[in-house]
Amino acid sequence: MLTKKFLLKQKRVLLAKKRSVVAAIRKLNDQPLTDHVLYKLTTELPLIERALTRIEKGIYGRCVNCREDIPAARLTVRPETVRCVDCQAQYERFVHDQR
Ligand SMILES: [Zn+2]
Repeated sequence: MLTKKFLLKQKRVLLAKKRSVVAAIRKLNDQPLTDHVLYKLTTELPLIERALTRIEKGIYGRCVNCREDIPAARLTVRPETVRCVDCQAQYERFVHDQR
């Protein structure tokens, strides 16, 4: 079970990440989208939004696949993650196989 203090910290980190992604996108103006910015826009930003929503709903830190708690150490490194290490590896293999 994650502490309230930890959740608040994660929320602050996620909001800061969101601000930096939004700032990077704003700076683009009419410049062409690079893969890096495209990744931020299509992958990172939705994950950040999803994590913030999960904090509000009180389900942050629970793996979307197996429903087990994601270790706080992993959440500290990747605050926007929605899967535990095992499920993430499984998911990446699945995505890879679809290509
Ligand atoms: Zn899992």
